Amino acid sequence: MSPATAPAAETEEHRALRAAVAALGQRYGRDYHARITEEGGRPAELWADAAKLGYLGVNLPEEYGGGGGGIAELSIVLEELGAAGCPLLMMVVSPAICGTVISRFGTPAQKRAWLPGLADGSRMMAFGITEPDAGSNSHRITTTARRDGSDWVLTGRKVFVSGVDIADATLIVGRTEDARTGRLKPCLFIVDRDAPGFSRSPIDMELRAAEKQFELVLDEVRLPAGALVGADDTGGDQAEAPDTGLLQLFAGLNPERIMTAAFAVGIGRHALARAVEYARTRQVWAEPIGAHQAIAHPLAAAHIELELARLMMQKAARLYDAGDDAAAGEAANMAKYAAAEACVKAVDQAVHTLGGNGLTREYGLASLVTASRVARIAPVSREMILNFVSHQTLGLPKSY
Ligand SMILES: Cc1cc2nc3c(=O)[nH]c(=O)nc-3n(C[C@H](O)[C@H](O)[C@H](O)COP(=O)(O)OP(=O)(O)OC[C@H]3O[C@@H](n4cnc5c(N)ncnc54)[C@H](O)[C@@H]3O)c2cc1C
Repeated sequence: MSPATAPAAETEEHRALRAAVAALGQRYGRDYHARITEEGGRPAELWADAAKLGYLGVNLPEEYGGGGGGIAELSIVLEELGAAGCPLLMMVVSPAICGTVISRFGTPAQKRAWLPGLADGSRMMAFGITEPDAGSNSHRITTTARRDGSDWVLTGRKVFVSGVDIADATLIVGRTEDARTGRLKPCLFIVDRDAPGFSRSPIDMELRAAEKQFELVLDEVRLPAGALVGADDTGGDQAEAPDTGLLQLFAGLNPERIMTAAFAVGIGRHALARAVEYARTRQVWAEPIGAHQAIAHPLAAAHIELELARLMMQKAARLYDAGDDAAAGEAANMAKYAAAEACVKAVDQAVHTLGGNGLTREYGLASLVTASRVARIAPVSREMILNFVSHQTLGLPKSY
Protein backbone atom coordinates (compact mmCIF):
# COMPACT_ATOMS: atom_id res chain seq x y z
CA MET A 1 0.00 0.00 0.00
CA SER A 2 1.94 3.03 -1.19
CA PRO A 3 0.92 6.58 -0.31
CA ALA A 4 -0.35 6.80 -3.89
CA THR A 5 -3.02 4.22 -3.11
CA ALA A 6 -4.08 5.89 0.15
CA PRO A 7 -7.83 5.92 0.59
CA ALA A 8 -9.87 8.23 -1.58
CA ALA A 9 -11.79 9.32 1.52
CA GLU A 10 -8.76 11.31 2.61
CA THR A 11 -8.41 15.02 1.92
CA GLU A 12 -5.65 16.40 -0.26
CA GLU A 13 -3.96 17.70 2.90
CA HIS A 14 -4.02 14.31 4.54
CA ARG A 15 -2.64 12.70 1.43
CA ALA A 16 0.16 15.23 1.29
CA LEU A 17 0.96 14.65 4.97
CA ARG A 18 0.97 10.89 4.39
CA ALA A 19 3.38 11.21 1.46
CA ALA A 20 5.70 13.57 3.33
CA VAL A 21 5.87 11.35 6.43
CA ALA A 22 6.38 8.27 4.24
CA ALA A 23 9.38 10.02 2.68
CA LEU A 24 10.82 10.75 6.13
CA GLY A 25 10.17 7.15 7.19
CA GLN A 26 12.00 5.84 4.14
CA ARG A 27 15.07 7.87 5.06
CA TYR A 28 15.23 5.94 8.36
CA GLY A 29 13.39 2.65 7.79
CA ARG A 30 13.65 -0.75 9.35
CA ASP A 31 17.47 -0.86 9.37
CA TYR A 32 17.64 2.27 11.54
CA HIS A 33 15.03 0.88 13.90
CA ALA A 34 16.87 -2.47 14.10
CA ARG A 35 20.24 -0.80 14.74
CA ILE A 36 18.91 1.47 17.48
CA THR A 37 17.20 -1.47 19.18
CA GLU A 38 20.32 -3.63 18.91
CA GLU A 39 22.46 -0.89 20.46
CA GLY A 40 19.96 -0.32 23.26
CA GLY A 41 19.57 3.27 22.08
CA ARG A 42 16.56 5.43 21.38
CA PRO A 43 15.33 6.84 18.07
CA ALA A 44 16.37 10.38 19.02
CA GLU A 45 17.32 11.49 15.48
CA LEU A 46 14.04 10.33 13.97
CA TRP A 47 12.10 11.85 16.88
CA ALA A 48 13.93 15.18 16.38
CA ASP A 49 13.45 15.18 12.60
CA ALA A 50 9.76 14.32 12.88
CA ALA A 51 9.40 17.10 15.46
CA LYS A 52 11.24 19.64 13.33
CA LEU A 53 8.85 18.95 10.46
CA GLY A 54 5.92 19.57 12.80
CA TYR A 55 4.71 15.96 12.78
CA LEU A 56 4.88 15.18 16.51
CA GLY A 57 2.81 18.16 17.55
CA VAL A 58 0.45 18.12 14.59
CA ASN A 59 -2.54 17.54 16.93
CA LEU A 60 -1.62 20.22 19.49
CA PRO A 61 -2.95 23.80 19.53
CA GLU A 62 -1.17 26.31 17.30
CA GLU A 63 -0.83 28.85 20.10
CA TYR A 64 1.52 26.41 21.86
CA GLY A 65 3.54 25.60 18.76
CA GLY A 66 1.45 22.67 17.53
CA GLY A 67 -0.08 22.14 14.11
CA GLY A 68 -3.66 22.82 15.16
CA GLY A 69 -4.81 19.50 13.70
CA GLY A 70 -6.20 16.47 15.45
CA ILE A 71 -5.78 12.77 16.05
CA ALA A 72 -6.61 12.14 12.39
CA GLU A 73 -3.35 13.83 11.40
CA LEU A 74 -1.31 12.36 14.26
CA SER A 75 -2.47 8.84 13.40
CA ILE A 76 -1.37 9.34 9.78
CA VAL A 77 2.13 10.22 11.04
CA LEU A 78 2.42 7.12 13.23
CA GLU A 79 0.94 4.81 10.61
CA GLU A 80 3.35 5.98 7.91
CA LEU A 81 6.41 5.70 10.16
CA GLY A 82 5.26 2.18 11.08
CA ALA A 83 4.74 1.29 7.43
CA ALA A 84 8.32 2.43 6.79
CA GLY A 85 9.53 0.07 9.54
CA CYS A 86 10.34 2.70 12.15
CA PRO A 87 7.27 3.34 14.35
CA LEU A 88 7.66 5.79 17.24
CA LEU A 89 5.78 4.11 20.09
CA MET A 90 6.06 7.17 22.33
CA MET A 91 3.83 9.10 19.93
CA VAL A 92 0.95 7.07 21.35
CA VAL A 93 1.75 8.42 24.77
CA SER A 94 3.43 11.83 24.64
CA PRO A 95 1.52 13.94 22.11
CA ALA A 96 -1.60 11.74 21.86
CA ILE A 97 -2.51 10.97 25.47
CA CYS A 98 -0.58 13.50 27.54
CA GLY A 99 -0.69 16.34 25.00
CA THR A 100 -4.43 15.89 24.55
CA VAL A 101 -5.19 15.72 28.28
CA ILE A 102 -3.13 18.82 29.04
CA SER A 103 -4.44 20.83 26.12
CA ARG A 104 -8.05 19.97 27.01
CA PHE A 105 -7.89 20.07 30.80
CA GLY A 106 -4.59 21.63 31.91
CA THR A 107 -4.39 25.00 33.61
CA PRO A 108 -2.81 27.86 31.65
CA ALA A 109 0.41 27.27 33.63
CA GLN A 110 0.43 23.54 32.81
CA LYS A 111 -0.20 24.29 29.15
CA ARG A 112 2.65 26.80 29.06
CA ALA A 113 4.96 24.42 30.88
CA TRP A 114 4.30 21.35 28.73
CA LEU A 115 2.63 21.93 25.39
CA PRO A 116 5.41 23.81 23.57
CA GLY A 117 7.92 21.08 24.51
CA LEU A 118 5.58 18.22 23.63
CA ALA A 119 4.80 19.94 20.33
CA ASP A 120 8.41 20.54 19.29
CA GLY A 121 9.54 17.16 20.62
CA SER A 122 12.05 18.63 23.07
CA ARG A 123 10.05 17.21 26.00
CA MET A 124 8.33 13.89 26.36
CA MET A 125 5.78 12.53 28.77
CA ALA A 126 4.99 8.90 29.64
CA PHE A 127 1.62 7.66 30.90
CA GLY A 128 1.07 5.23 33.77
CA ILE A 129 -2.27 3.65 34.56
CA THR A 130 -1.65 -0.14 34.65
CA GLU A 131 -1.12 -1.65 38.08
CA PRO A 132 0.07 -5.14 38.95
CA ASP A 133 -3.03 -6.05 40.98
CA ALA A 134 -5.60 -4.22 38.88
CA GLY A 135 -4.56 -5.10 35.30
CA SER A 136 -7.48 -4.71 32.91
CA ASN A 137 -9.76 -3.64 35.76
CA SER A 138 -8.73 -0.03 36.24
CA HIS A 139 -11.48 0.45 38.84
CA ARG A 140 -9.16 -1.48 41.14
CA ILE A 141 -6.18 0.83 40.92
CA THR A 142 -4.86 1.74 44.35
CA THR A 143 -2.27 4.44 43.68
CA THR A 144 -3.47 6.98 46.20
CA ALA A 145 -2.99 10.71 46.61
CA ARG A 146 -3.12 12.17 50.12
CA ARG A 147 -3.41 15.88 50.83
CA ASP A 148 -0.68 17.44 53.00
CA GLY A 149 -1.20 21.18 53.22
CA SER A 150 -1.39 22.35 49.65
CA ASP A 151 0.84 19.43 48.51
CA TRP A 152 -0.17 15.96 47.40
CA VAL A 153 1.63 12.82 48.55
CA LEU A 154 1.35 9.98 46.05
CA THR A 155 1.89 6.30 46.87
CA GLY A 156 1.45 3.23 44.68
CA ARG A 157 2.85 0.91 42.03
CA LYS A 158 2.55 0.80 38.27
CA VAL A 159 3.67 -1.77 35.76
CA PHE A 160 4.50 -1.99 32.02
CA VAL A 161 4.78 1.79 31.71
CA SER A 162 6.61 2.64 28.47
CA GLY A 163 9.44 5.12 28.06
CA VAL A 164 9.70 6.37 31.65
CA ASP A 165 13.50 6.58 31.31
CA ILE A 166 13.37 8.91 28.31
CA ALA A 167 10.33 10.93 29.36
CA ASP A 168 10.75 14.14 31.36
CA ALA A 169 7.71 13.23 33.41
CA THR A 170 5.00 10.58 33.68
CA LEU A 171 1.30 11.31 33.81
CA ILE A 172 0.20 9.04 36.65
CA VAL A 173 -3.41 7.99 37.13
CA GLY A 174 -4.29 7.73 40.81
CA ARG A 175 -7.24 8.24 43.10
CA THR A 176 -7.68 10.50 46.08
CA GLU A 177 -7.71 9.13 49.61
CA ASP A 178 -11.39 9.94 50.13
CA ALA A 179 -12.28 7.96 46.98
CA ARG A 180 -10.08 5.01 47.79
CA THR A 181 -12.48 2.24 46.94
CA GLY A 182 -15.43 1.71 44.65
CA ARG A 183 -15.94 3.08 41.17
CA LEU A 184 -12.84 4.86 39.95
CA LYS A 185 -12.78 8.62 40.44
CA PRO A 186 -9.35 9.15 38.94
CA CYS A 187 -7.02 12.07 39.29
CA LEU A 188 -4.07 12.63 37.01
CA PHE A 189 -0.69 13.85 38.30
CA ILE A 190 2.36 15.03 36.40
CA VAL A 191 5.32 13.36 38.14
CA ASP A 192 8.82 14.49 37.16
CA ARG A 193 11.26 11.74 36.24
CA ASP A 194 13.57 12.60 39.13
CA ALA A 195 10.94 13.29 41.80
CA PRO A 196 12.16 11.92 45.17
CA GLY A 197 10.42 8.61 45.94
CA PHE A 198 9.66 7.89 42.25
CA SER A 199 11.70 4.87 41.15
CA ARG A 200 11.65 2.61 38.12
CA SER A 201 13.01 -0.80 37.16
CA PRO A 202 13.05 -2.06 33.60
CA ILE A 203 11.00 -5.15 32.78
CA ASP A 204 12.84 -7.78 30.78
CA MET A 205 10.58 -7.94 27.72
CA GLU A 206 10.90 -10.26 24.69
CA LEU A 207 9.77 -7.29 22.63
CA ARG A 208 12.53 -5.86 20.40
CA ALA A 209 11.83 -2.14 20.60
CA ALA A 210 13.76 0.95 21.55
CA GLU A 211 11.09 1.99 24.06
CA LYS A 212 11.40 0.02 27.30
CA GLN A 213 8.68 -0.91 29.79
CA PHE A 214 9.09 -0.22 33.51
CA GLU A 215 7.72 -1.17 36.86
CA LEU A 216 7.29 1.99 38.93
CA VAL A 217 7.21 2.53 42.65
CA LEU A 218 5.79 5.76 44.04
CA ASP A 219 6.87 5.91 47.64
CA GLU A 220 5.35 8.98 49.28
CA VAL A 221 6.12 11.16 46.27
CA ARG A 222 5.52 14.77 47.33
CA LEU A 223 3.97 16.90 44.60
CA PRO A 224 2.94 20.55 44.54
CA ALA A 225 -0.75 21.33 44.09
CA GLY A 226 -0.05 22.33 40.48
CA ALA A 227 1.05 18.77 39.60
CA LEU A 228 -2.59 17.72 39.55
CA VAL A 229 -3.98 18.19 36.04
CA GLY A 230 -6.46 21.06 36.07
CA ALA A 231 -5.39 22.45 39.47
CA ASP A 232 -3.34 25.57 39.99
CA ASP A 233 -0.47 26.17 42.42
CA THR A 234 -2.65 28.08 44.81
CA GLY A 235 -4.45 24.86 45.72
CA GLY A 236 -7.45 25.23 43.39
CA ASP A 237 -8.62 21.65 43.33
CA GLN A 238 -10.31 19.89 40.43
CA ALA A 239 -10.35 16.61 42.37
CA GLU A 240 -13.36 17.84 44.27
CA ALA A 241 -15.33 18.17 41.04
CA PRO A 242 -16.91 14.72 40.75
CA ASP A 243 -16.31 13.66 37.15
CA THR A 244 -13.46 15.88 36.01
CA GLY A 245 -10.83 13.19 36.42
CA LEU A 246 -12.91 10.66 34.52
CA LEU A 247 -13.41 13.11 31.66
CA GLN A 248 -9.66 13.78 31.62
CA LEU A 249 -8.89 10.08 31.55
CA PHE A 250 -11.26 9.37 28.67
CA ALA A 251 -9.95 12.38 26.79
CA GLY A 252 -6.61 10.55 26.77
CA LEU A 253 -7.75 6.96 26.36
CA ASN A 254 -9.63 7.43 23.10
CA PRO A 255 -6.61 8.94 21.30
CA GLU A 256 -4.53 6.13 22.80
CA ARG A 257 -6.74 3.50 21.18
CA ILE A 258 -6.80 5.32 17.83
CA MET A 259 -3.03 5.69 17.89
CA THR A 260 -2.57 2.02 18.79
CA ALA A 261 -4.68 1.24 15.75
CA ALA A 262 -2.33 3.42 13.67
CA PHE A 263 0.67 1.63 15.16
CA ALA A 264 -0.88 -1.73 14.25
CA VAL A 265 -1.93 -0.77 10.72
CA GLY A 266 1.58 0.62 10.11
CA ILE A 267 3.34 -2.54 11.29
CA GLY A 268 0.88 -4.72 9.35
CA ARG A 269 1.50 -2.73 6.17
CA HIS A 270 5.25 -2.96 6.64
CA ALA A 271 5.17 -6.74 7.08
CA LEU A 272 2.78 -7.20 4.17
CA ALA A 273 4.89 -5.06 1.81
CA ARG A 274 7.99 -7.10 2.60
CA ALA A 275 6.12 -10.36 2.06
CA VAL A 276 4.67 -9.19 -1.26
CA GLU A 277 8.11 -8.10 -2.47
CA TYR A 278 9.50 -11.50 -1.53
CA ALA A 279 6.61 -13.46 -3.06
CA ARG A 280 7.05 -11.64 -6.36
CA THR A 281 10.64 -12.71 -6.80
CA ARG A 282 11.23 -15.92 -4.84
CA GLN A 283 11.12 -18.85 -7.27
CA VAL A 284 11.42 -22.50 -6.29
CA TRP A 285 9.43 -24.03 -9.17
CA ALA A 286 8.63 -22.46 -12.52
CA GLU A 287 6.70 -19.47 -11.12
CA PRO A 288 7.41 -17.05 -8.29
CA ILE A 289 5.79 -18.28 -5.06
CA GLY A 290 3.35 -15.33 -5.23
CA ALA A 291 1.64 -17.06 -8.16
CA HIS A 292 0.44 -19.82 -5.83
CA GLN A 293 -2.95 -18.89 -4.47
CA ALA A 294 -2.09 -20.42 -1.12
CA ILE A 295 0.45 -17.60 -0.82
CA ALA A 296 -1.39 -14.86 -2.72
CA HIS A 297 -4.85 -15.12 -1.19
CA PRO A 298 -3.87 -14.77 2.46
CA LEU A 299 -1.76 -11.74 1.47
CA ALA A 300 -4.73 -10.26 -0.39
CA ALA A 301 -6.98 -10.94 2.61
CA ALA A 302 -4.44 -9.29 4.92
CA HIS A 303 -4.42 -6.21 2.68
CA ILE A 304 -8.23 -6.03 2.75
CA GLU A 305 -8.36 -6.37 6.53
CA LEU A 306 -5.73 -3.67 7.04
CA GLU A 307 -7.65 -1.31 4.74
CA LEU A 308 -10.88 -2.00 6.64
CA ALA A 309 -9.18 -1.42 9.97
CA ARG A 310 -7.80 1.86 8.69
CA LEU A 311 -11.27 2.98 7.64
CA MET A 312 -12.53 2.34 11.17
CA MET A 313 -9.54 4.20 12.57
CA GLN A 314 -10.30 7.18 10.33
CA LYS A 315 -13.92 7.14 11.48
CA ALA A 316 -12.86 7.07 15.13
CA ALA A 317 -10.39 9.91 14.58
CA ARG A 318 -13.00 12.00 12.77
CA LEU A 319 -15.52 11.52 15.57
CA TYR A 320 -12.95 12.31 18.23
CA ASP A 321 -11.70 15.43 16.45
CA ALA A 322 -15.31 16.57 16.01
CA GLY A 323 -15.74 16.44 19.80
CA ASP A 324 -18.14 13.49 19.89
CA ASP A 325 -16.41 11.67 22.75
CA ALA A 326 -19.12 9.06 23.26
CA ALA A 327 -19.31 7.91 19.65
CA ALA A 328 -15.53 8.16 19.37
CA GLY A 329 -15.17 5.82 22.36
CA GLU A 330 -17.03 3.01 20.65
CA ALA A 331 -15.33 3.59 17.30
CA ALA A 332 -11.86 3.86 18.88
CA ASN A 333 -12.32 0.52 20.63
CA MET A 334 -13.52 -1.12 17.43
CA ALA A 335 -10.66 0.41 15.43
CA LYS A 336 -8.08 -0.80 17.96
CA TYR A 337 -9.58 -4.29 17.87
CA ALA A 338 -9.78 -4.46 14.07
CA ALA A 339 -6.29 -3.06 13.55
CA ALA A 340 -4.67 -5.36 16.09
CA GLU A 341 -6.33 -8.43 14.59
CA ALA A 342 -5.42 -7.34 11.04
CA CYS A 343 -1.84 -6.67 12.14
CA VAL A 344 -1.41 -10.03 13.89
CA LYS A 345 -2.72 -11.86 10.81
CA ALA A 346 -0.66 -9.82 8.33
CA VAL A 347 2.55 -10.37 10.30
CA ASP A 348 1.86 -14.08 10.71
CA GLN A 349 1.23 -14.48 6.99
CA ALA A 350 4.27 -12.38 6.11
CA VAL A 351 6.55 -14.58 8.22
CA HIS A 352 5.08 -17.68 6.63
CA THR A 353 5.51 -16.28 3.12
CA LEU A 354 9.25 -15.99 3.62
CA GLY A 355 9.63 -19.61 4.71
CA GLY A 356 12.90 -20.01 6.63
CA ASN A 357 13.82 -16.43 5.88
CA GLY A 358 10.76 -15.37 7.86
CA LEU A 359 12.70 -16.30 10.97
CA THR A 360 16.08 -14.78 10.09
CA ARG A 361 17.42 -11.60 11.62
CA GLU A 362 18.27 -10.37 8.12
CA TYR A 363 14.64 -10.05 7.11
CA GLY A 364 13.52 -8.84 10.53
CA LEU A 365 9.96 -10.14 10.33
CA ALA A 366 9.99 -12.60 13.21
CA SER A 367 10.46 -9.80 15.76
CA LEU A 368 7.25 -8.25 14.45
CA VAL A 369 5.34 -11.25 15.74
CA THR A 370 5.92 -9.98 19.28
CA ALA A 371 5.36 -6.35 18.27
CA SER A 372 2.05 -7.19 16.63
CA ARG A 373 0.85 -8.90 19.82
CA VAL A 374 1.38 -5.66 21.75
CA ALA A 375 -1.51 -4.12 19.85
CA ARG A 376 -3.74 -7.02 20.85
CA ILE A 377 -2.91 -6.70 24.56
CA ALA A 378 -2.36 -2.97 25.11
CA PRO A 379 -3.69 -0.49 26.03
CA VAL A 380 -6.80 -2.59 26.44
CA SER A 381 -6.97 -6.26 25.54
CA ARG A 382 -9.00 -7.80 22.77
CA GLU A 383 -11.31 -9.43 25.34
CA MET A 384 -12.02 -6.16 27.14
CA ILE A 385 -13.02 -4.59 23.81
CA LEU A 386 -15.30 -7.54 23.08
CA ASN A 387 -16.76 -7.07 26.57
CA PHE A 388 -17.31 -3.37 25.86
CA VAL A 389 -19.07 -4.05 22.56
CA SER A 390 -21.13 -6.89 24.08
CA HIS A 391 -22.36 -4.70 26.92
CA GLN A 392 -22.37 -1.15 25.57
CA THR A 393 -23.25 -1.71 21.93
CA LEU A 394 -25.26 -4.92 22.00
CA GLY A 395 -26.77 -4.53 25.47
CA LEU A 396 -25.83 -8.05 26.56
CA PRO A 397 -25.52 -8.84 30.28
CA LYS A 398 -22.18 -8.76 32.07
CA SER A 399 -20.39 -11.84 33.44
CA TYR A 400 -18.00 -10.03 35.79
C1 LIG B 1 4.57 -3.35 25.29
C2 LIG B 1 3.60 -2.83 26.30
C3 LIG B 1 3.58 -1.49 26.57
C4 LIG B 1 2.71 -0.98 27.54
N1 LIG B 1 2.75 0.35 27.85
C5 LIG B 1 1.98 0.83 28.86
C6 LIG B 1 2.08 2.20 29.26
O1 LIG B 1 2.84 2.99 28.69
N2 LIG B 1 1.33 2.62 30.31
C7 LIG B 1 0.47 1.78 30.99
O2 LIG B 1 -0.16 2.22 31.91
N3 LIG B 1 0.36 0.47 30.61
C8 LIG B 1 1.09 -0.02 29.58
N4 LIG B 1 0.98 -1.34 29.21
C9 LIG B 1 0.09 -2.23 29.96
C10 LIG B 1 -1.13 -2.71 29.17
O3 LIG B 1 -2.04 -1.66 29.00
C11 LIG B 1 -1.70 -3.91 29.95
O4 LIG B 1 -0.78 -4.97 29.79
C12 LIG B 1 -3.08 -4.29 29.48
O5 LIG B 1 -4.02 -3.31 29.84
C13 LIG B 1 -3.54 -5.66 30.06
O6 LIG B 1 -3.38 -5.68 31.46
P1 LIG B 1 -2.62 -6.92 32.15
O7 LIG B 1 -1.32 -7.10 31.44
O8 LIG B 1 -2.58 -6.69 33.61
O9 LIG B 1 -3.50 -8.19 31.82
P2 LIG B 1 -4.69 -8.82 32.70
O10 LIG B 1 -5.66 -7.75 33.06
O11 LIG B 1 -4.10 -9.64 33.78
O12 LIG B 1 -5.37 -9.78 31.64
C14 LIG B 1 -4.80 -11.04 31.26
C15 LIG B 1 -5.72 -11.71 30.26
O13 LIG B 1 -7.02 -11.93 30.85
C16 LIG B 1 -8.02 -11.37 30.03
N5 LIG B 1 -9.12 -10.84 30.86
C17 LIG B 1 -9.03 -10.08 31.99
N6 LIG B 1 -10.25 -9.75 32.45
C18 LIG B 1 -11.15 -10.30 31.60
C19 LIG B 1 -12.58 -10.30 31.50
N7 LIG B 1 -13.34 -9.65 32.38
N8 LIG B 1 -13.16 -10.95 30.47
C20 LIG B 1 -12.38 -11.61 29.54
N9 LIG B 1 -11.04 -11.64 29.57
C21 LIG B 1 -10.43 -10.98 30.58
C22 LIG B 1 -7.34 -10.25 29.25
O14 LIG B 1 -8.00 -9.97 28.04
C23 LIG B 1 -5.96 -10.85 29.01
O15 LIG B 1 -5.97 -11.65 27.85
C24 LIG B 1 1.83 -1.86 28.23
C25 LIG B 1 1.83 -3.23 27.93
C26 LIG B 1 2.71 -3.72 26.98
C27 LIG B 1 2.71 -5.19 26.69
